Amino acid sequence: MDAQPNSLEARDIHYHLHPYTDARKHQETGPVIIEKGDGIYVEDNAGNRYIEAMAGLWSVAVGFSEQRLVDAAARQFAKLPYYHSFSSKSHSPLVDLAEKLVKMAPVPMSKAFFTNSGSEANDSAMKMIWYRSNALGQPQRKKIISRQRGYHGVTIASASLTGLPNNQTSFDLPIANVLHTSSPHYWREALPGEGEEQFSTRLADDLEQLILAEGPETIAAFFGEPVMGAGGVIVPPAGYWEKIQAVLAKYDILLVADEVICGFGRTGNMFGSQTFNMRPDIMVMSKQISSSYQPISALMINERVFEPLADESNRIGTFGHGFTCGGHPVAAAVALENLNIIEERDLVGNARRVGGHMQERLGELASHDLVGEVRGVGMIAAIELVGDKATKAPWGKAGALGALVNDLLRQNGVISRNMGDALAFCPPLIITEAQVDTLVDVVKRALDAAAVQVK
Ligand code: PLP
Repeated sequence: MDAQPNSLEARDIHYHLHPYTDARKHQETGPVIIEKGDGIYVEDNAGNRYIEAMAGLWSVAVGFSEQRLVDAAARQFAKLPYYHSFSSKSHSPLVDLAEKLVKMAPVPMSKAFFTNSGSEANDSAMKMIWYRSNALGQPQRKKIISRQRGYHGVTIASASLTGLPNNQTSFDLPIANVLHTSSPHYWREALPGEGEEQFSTRLADDLEQLILAEGPETIAAFFGEPVMGAGGVIVPPAGYWEKIQAVLAKYDILLVADEVICGFGRTGNMFGSQTFNMRPDIMVMSKQISSSYQPISALMINERVFEPLADESNRIGTFGHGFTCGGHPVAAAVALENLNIIEERDLVGNARRVGGHMQERLGELASHDLVGEVRGVGMIAAIELVGDKATKAPWGKAGALGALVNDLLRQNGVISRNMGDALAFCPPLIITEAQVDTLVDVVKRALDAAAVQVK
């Protein structure tokens, strides 16, 4: 890119290594610099305004200009800008938030533990599970099962749980003791003539075979997102979670629901676990917990996890885990206010109602020549692009069409994200029907423009 010397763009190229970016290409293309946000919109430093159809990174439930969160942060900064929760210390925003989360939980939970990111929360869950197995005198019970295409983060443990090649290739991951079972993407993975229930039964059988081959006494837990997000917005097929949970119960394996995207309304209920009748032992939460105005994540554990953990910490003398900024008071105060807003404004109901409208309007695009599948639930959806509808083959190299349409969307004022050829839509929960209509019109125009280019 032709960046002016000393411009933000030039300095970004010079000094900043970007996550999830081709570092070499970035030197040519440079950054998109976002300057400000309001409602569902953000604006770049050239004055271009975009519908932020990904709510940032699936996270800004209340939109980009919520003054109540600014005020909550300012009040807490003035009162107590930092404290920790090691060695029995606590502070009121954290006590309030822990209580609120445990009371909101759709299944009985015992305690909340606070971390700073979804990855850290999943790491912490994994460590607690190992700690518990040792506490129970089952040191062999350490293996964890997650799924191909699942996403649980990028730390060494959570990237191992993640089932996507880009998070593991050249990082020497996954680590030992993490196993991956089949992805529940019916449209892509089902056999010819296989119904959704049959597909779910086959996946539950796959899981059981894996457990039996490894030895059921060696398997500690199963991690899954109620709806897979970064794997391409994969909504589980009919009967999937019931059948998977039956297998887990048979072998006394813990279920961890990674609610980092689904939590706090995204699927049209407060938690994805409610939408899909999941009964997790551990729930992992982040993103919409604070609308990502502040970094904060949390996990809730039930008594099956807490009781042995408490015994083990007592035997050792401490639960030797925790982060300097875990449960930061400003982040906790912002999260509390954000959850109050989600409840007061019924943003969960909005995700259901306006989300239903979004699914319907995006569904109209299923007949487009470049669209293989439109899928979603509540206020999260994806359009899978294909070069050939009959064979489901990509256009050219996998991901090329997704990148092309994603660029066209941005040129037309919509920020989406393509995961390969799946274009994701996950707007702020405050979006209105009229704004959804504008969004879908832009998507349709981008698809038509792409069709001219690729045919
Ligand atoms: N789990 C899920 C389901 C996610 O979608 C993400 C991030 O997108 C994570 C975990 C990791 O969260 P973080 O990026 O905050 O580490």
